[in-house]
Amino acid sequence: MQVVLIEGDGIGPEVTQAACRVVAAAGVRIDWVKAAAGIPAAEQHGEPLPEETLEMIRRYRVALKGPCTTPVGKGYRSINVRLRQGLDLFASVRPVRTMPGVKTPYEKVDLVVVRENTEGLYSGMEHQVVPGVVESVRLVTRAAAERIVKFAFELARHGGRRLVTFCHKADVMRLSDGLFLECARTVAEDYPFIQFEEKPIDNVCLELASDPTQFDVLVMENLFGDVISDLAAGLVGGLGLVPGANYGTRFAVFEAVHGSAPDIAGQGLANPIAVVRSAALMLEYVGHRDAAVKIEKAVAATLQAGVGLTRDLGGTGTTATITEQLIKNLGA
Ligand code: NAD
Repeated sequence: MQVVLIEGDGIGPEVTQAACRVVAAAGVRIDWVKAAAGIPAAEQHGEPLPEETLEMIRRYRVALKGPCTTPVGKGYRSINVRLRQGLDLFASVRPVRTMPGVKTPYEKVDLVVVRENTEGLYSGMEHQVVPGVVESVRLVTRAAAERIVKFAFELARHGGRRLVTFCHKADVMRLSDGLFLECARTVAEDYPFIQFEEKPIDNVCLELASDPTQFDVLVMENLFGDVISDLAAGLVGGLGLVPGANYGTRFAVFEAVHGSAPDIAGQGLANPIAVVRSAALMLEYVGHRDAAVKIEKAVAATLQAGVGLTRDLGGTGTTATITEQLIKNLGA
């Protein structure tokens, strides 16, 4: 099987290589087709997201991606936003679960953040009205709003989940979130067997910080989803642990929630677990469910044993030591 591999930059090459090793050790043969994005692509092609990279994903349909730095102040639009829009990867999914052995303020957190990935304030429509005054368009369309809420309900249905929470700020953004909320209510009517609630995004933040166990599936627009994904990751042990997937109707790109971590890049200190778990989501998507489960179990066993863990997890280990433990625990 051929899968596109975007190593990205910063800690990207270190953590994606670790993920490829774990996938191979789990017994799945993948022919990784490398594609460039991020700083190396900008340096080589003058373009951080070359069209060939998008073409490769269109051709092979599935990609595992490391984090990419978007050079700020050089006129580039975010690579990630362009990738998601260019491939119509409309649903970002981040499963956030308490992991064994990881000390956190809460136990038994098990929620999924579903984020609309193509519109909202990330639609890229900004302009200067006059010097000193700029406007950003917060795009909401009925088609995109309905499809993301439907996606969240289908995810709940197939995952045996009980509750979908729609997060919004419709009292202030009456037109844009008003339309989104109306769409959410309409879609919810089709799923009377799944509980539905609607909550202002600020209340959701408060409740996530005070009792995250009450949530199950959360669905929201792009910017809220970006923020809530990181907040939720913090509840279960940090960015180094939480995997992510971007799904469209034709393509899927799997990547961690975290960025390129320039502060620790090239030092062998990065925690590869988030990308390893993203690779497990990828394996599940392409039909290797057994291998995906095996990897998830190895991650749990490694965290539980607490051997070889990286600094973000309270250990003194490196990317190499934690990867060795993950591979060892695949057989456990
Ligand atoms: P970041 O996620 O890179 O780092 C935030 C903090 O978390 C840092 O202290 C970092 O060392 C730590 N961290 C992150 N991942 C870690 C890991 N796997 N192991 C151990 N520690 C880890 O966020 P940032 O600093 O805001 O962003 C850096 C760059 O990454 C920016 O250019 C941003 O645009 C980009 N970014 C890319 C993606 C993506 O490609 N999907 C996502 C977010 C940010």
